[in-house]
Amino acid sequence: MAMNNDRAGLVAVTGIGGFLGRHVAAQLLKAGYEVRGTLRSMKKADAIEAAIRSADGAAQGKLSFVTADLTADAGWDAAFTGAAYVVHTASPFPSHVPKNEDDLIRPAREGTLRVLRAAKAASVRRVVLTSSIAAISYGPGRAPFSEKDWTDPDGPLATPYYKSKTLAERAAWDFALENSLELAVVNPGMILGPILGTETGTSVGLVQNLMKGRYPAMPDFRVPVVDVRDAAEAHVLALTVPQAAGERFIIAGEALSIEDIVTVLKRDFPAYGKKLPRFVLPNWLAGLAAYFDPGLKLIAGELGRDARISNEKAKRVLGWKPRPEAEAVRASAESLIAAGLV
Ligand code: NAP
Repeated sequence: MAMNNDRAGLVAVTGIGGFLGRHVAAQLLKAGYEVRGTLRSMKKADAIEAAIRSADGAAQGKLSFVTADLTADAGWDAAFTGAAYVVHTASPFPSHVPKNEDDLIRPAREGTLRVLRAAKAASVRRVVLTSSIAAISYGPGRAPFSEKDWTDPDGPLATPYYKSKTLAERAAWDFALENSLELAVVNPGMILGPILGTETGTSVGLVQNLMKGRYPAMPDFRVPVVDVRDAAEAHVLALTVPQAAGERFIIAGEALSIEDIVTVLKRDFPAYGKKLPRFVLPNWLAGLAAYFDPGLKLIAGELGRDARISNEKAKRVLGWKPRPEAEAVRASAESLIAAGLV
């Protein structure tokens, strides 16, 4: 859908320097929108622009950057002035459990409210918020999880990251209701697929660690996977499909185990076969090892868990058509090899 570079076409993307944010920006440019992205620092702006422009169809179109941090008020009003839409992807997503959970929860929840207040003040038409299945699958519900399910932020499965995403999404819905702001929420599964540039982020970091031989064995961990190109497309659809207003959408496909991911890597990248783990860790051993391994600690509470989701609503309402999950794994690996990161 081509649009003019006027007010109707300006989309502000928070966290444009992130793995997902870059792809969202690229697809918006490809669709003819003007994009203004927020960064915490301008230091990498040129490299981020080059990475976004390298994506298919994103070489043309107006792209600019402004600075804003989720933990401070400065910059947000300027970021959204004149924007027709806001896509809020920024949120901390570390590869370890932080010492203090507020390091995640504060920027996620208070930052989201900052973003929504500024979006309301700028009279944007709609905000699309990137939440996660982290806000869906870790409460009283059972697999296959749907948009009706909510993570219990006080429950035993809620890690600080899951809590941060749940509390941020809850706060967003409350704000939208109280302030008549049009909101749509995208809840991706684990996002894999090609990186743009050379930063991997936490999710592709898993594929990178596997290919670098950092894991001697595999935990029995399953997670619904989505390709970053399909996740980005869902954000663009959520921006414009009228029926998306007031709705949340699970954006993920099949739940893959680490063993499934390793099987794809072994098959398509045999040169890495020796680096890839061969054995599945028994859960009791993985639970024990989690005391020493920050990555395992992140997932220790959900070993062996049925993580399946339903993506029927996104397909039906948004017309979303994801590619096979194995393609996301393969594309991650290919881009890591091309960037010299494995
Ligand atoms: P990422 O590459 O680490 O990107 C995170 C983004 O958030 C970066 O742009 C970062 O900005 C920004 N950010 C973090 N703290 C901030 C703060 N205090 N102020 C301003 N910006 C801040 O991670 P990602 O995978 O692209 O994640 C993007 C979004 O998708 C997040 O909301 C995440 O929760 C969600 N999500 C990710 C996955 C996944 O598997 N990757 C799955 C479901 C949902 P800087 O560039 O300045 O560091």
